[in-house]
Amino acid sequence: MSNRTTIPSSFAQKDCDRVAGLFAQIATRTADTQGVSRPAYSEIETETINFLIDFARKNGLEVEFDAAANALFSLPEDRDAEKYVLVGSHADSVPNGGNFDGLAGILAGLICLVRAREEGRKFARPVKVIALRGEESAWYGPCYIGSKALFGLLGANELGALHKGDQRPLSAHMADSGIDMKPVKAGQKLFDPSRLLAYVEVHIEQGPLLVNKDLPVANVSGIRGNIRHKAITCIGEAGHSGAVPRAYRRDPVLAMADLFTRLDDDWDTILQKGDDLVLTSGVVGTDPQKHAIARIPDSISFSLDVRSQDVETLDSMRDLLRAHMRIVERNRKIRFEMDDELSVAPALCDADIVAGISAAMRRLGYEDYVMPSGAGHDAAVFANNGVPTGMIFIRNRNGSHNPHEAMEMDDFMAASSVLYDYLTFDDGAA
Ligand SMILES: [Zn+2]
Repeated sequence: MSNRTTIPSSFAQKDCDRVAGLFAQIATRTADTQGVSRPAYSEIETETINFLIDFARKNGLEVEFDAAANALFSLPEDRDAEKYVLVGSHADSVPNGGNFDGLAGILAGLICLVRAREEGRKFARPVKVIALRGEESAWYGPCYIGSKALFGLLGANELGALHKGDQRPLSAHMADSGIDMKPVKAGQKLFDPSRLLAYVEVHIEQGPLLVNKDLPVANVSGIRGNIRHKAITCIGEAGHSGAVPRAYRRDPVLAMADLFTRLDDDWDTILQKGDDLVLTSGVVGTDPQKHAIARIPDSISFSLDVRSQDVETLDSMRDLLRAHMRIVERNRKIRFEMDDELSVAPALCDADIVAGISAAMRRLGYEDYVMPSGAGHDAAVFANNGVPTGMIFIRNRNGSHNPHEAMEMDDFMAASSVLYDYLTFDDGAA
């Protein structure tokens, strides 16, 4: 068990109770057979946002929608601000997901607005909180739909992507959610990004670092980019497992293992240099129609997911992958066939925002631990489109995208306190 953090005196117990109540009510309203399901651009997502709107209005906040049907909340005096800091996260979840992925970031922003209003406190710069739609790729394939729509970045292939359940295209579901699809299809920006002073997203950590380090919150340095292959095939030669001597084999499984061992060595070297890298092959298989215990398989295919915060590291891994493949092909008399690479550029958080969040953490007595985000977030879209971006992670057990994700309310309040302190602290730079 880790230490439970005490709620900073700055956030009252009643605020913690209020947010805990909101989490519980939304979990009940969006419950599925296991965990919660809040499909992107669905009635459930809309109802979740409407529930938040109801809470916001009851607490004296202003509510508006942008042209992508994301909801925006603000203090009355900030509603018409020329420039503002945007705080938020996504309202949707994966199927049978956890209640905190996404929702925690919206509620952290909302409770900061409510507290500022009740304390009669001004933010250092105007603040709006956004409840984004459609971040999860689980429903249609594309991810970050709500934020990409704002930047006019949804392509025809993404808008035509079919919903995993009803097989209707994303564009139809977006239209059903009240979005005028004409400018979206034309790739027009739906807002003016130059009005954003910053984008700050609070999110649960989806890995184990904060639990292991016994820290309630972290400051995020950047979001890893990736290069991905859905299926690389290694082609060898089938044979009898008992009859073919080693020297005569062209075994694709051992070749793949050889390749992975080489990549794993590279990974180790890159980490020792102090660079950032993770590498996974999550889908591996020989042909189930043909494979057998006593058969050397003729081929195997595997996925590859390589992530790093640095473009250079991703580029060098791409080169190393190919170089190793050539060597393994020669040594083992097999052949690799590559599918098309899918890639996402890494996104760096803004140095000034990272410094500002670190200062807020220290003022509240937290260790200002800085870490990269392994998982992707809407924040990557803002950061890669010129908006200075920052993220705050909340300690969370059991990962995410599953019903067992477990965030303690004390840790949520710690992250909300850091956010509140960051938003209200006037460094004179405004
Ligand atoms: Zn998320």
